[in-house]
Amino acid sequence: MKELTNKDIYDFLQKEIAEHPEIPNQLRCTLTEKENDQKFWEELNEYLDCFRICDTCHKPMIEGYYMDGTHYCSEACLYKDYTEQEVKEFCTVDNGEYYYSNLV
Ligand SMILES: [Zn+2]
Repeated sequence: MKELTNKDIYDFLQKEIAEHPEIPNQLRCTLTEKENDQKFWEELNEYLDCFRICDTCHKPMIEGYYMDGTHYCSEACLYKDYTEQEVKEFCTVDNGEYYYSNLV
């Protein structure tokens, strides 16, 4: 599956911010400069429900994996916590907690 690039995500979020006048001015900034600013994304997330924050790298994500209450933006982040075997076992359990979703 093709993963979105950071640019895709920032373009999408920039558009969403423009469409939400209630978002305070201090959160209206160049998103690429905020890439590693976890606090910024958490604050923005209070206004915008259209994205999630990766629990591993703390970057914004609009597609990703959700396992056992934790969000992962990519396979790279997912496999930091799980082995491929564990992910497979999780899938066969079919408890609906593992998915690749597109929030857009
Ligand atoms: Zn990540």
